Amino acid sequence: MKTADLVALARQAQELAYAPYSQYRVGAALLTTGGQIYTGANIENASYGLTVCAERTAVFKAVLAGERNFQAIALTGSEAGYTNPCGACLQVLAEFSPAIKIITANGKNEIKEYYLSEMLPYVFSIDQDDWCSEAPGASNEEQVLAFNQDNPSRRGK
Ligand SMILES: [Zn+2]
Repeated sequence: MKTADLVALARQAQELAYAPYSQYRVGAALLTTGGQIYTGANIENASYGLTVCAERTAVFKAVLAGERNFQAIALTGSEAGYTNPCGACLQVLAEFSPAIKIITANGKNEIKEYYLSEMLPYVFSIDQDDWCSEAPGASNEEQVLAFNQDNPSRRGK
């Protein structure tokens, strides 16, 4: 699956967004490690807090189809800029695939790519030694060391 193809599927899903309140339509295309694709779009509600983002609709569809491992998710949204995942969606993605690649495209289909660990380096986890354990480029011990250096209250732990 080429990145541009995944972005195109996200763009198609964006057309299905239900966004009568914000008019901000977002599409997502989630690629599993097995090569399956699940799309999503944001679904708003008159009670705004009940709105669900495109990323989470895609993840929830995939999980209900038995999928648990994802390699990439593409996002499309604003014509002017790039649409990044919100913190809630990053946390949901981290539940299943902490090393997932996040691809965002602007209205010109220019692309930026990140790893989840770059956008959410300190994932909430019941097991505090779990965060970023699959992040590229650094071992878990290196990341724990870096976290402790950045957080004086944790030094020596
Ligand atoms: Zn979100």
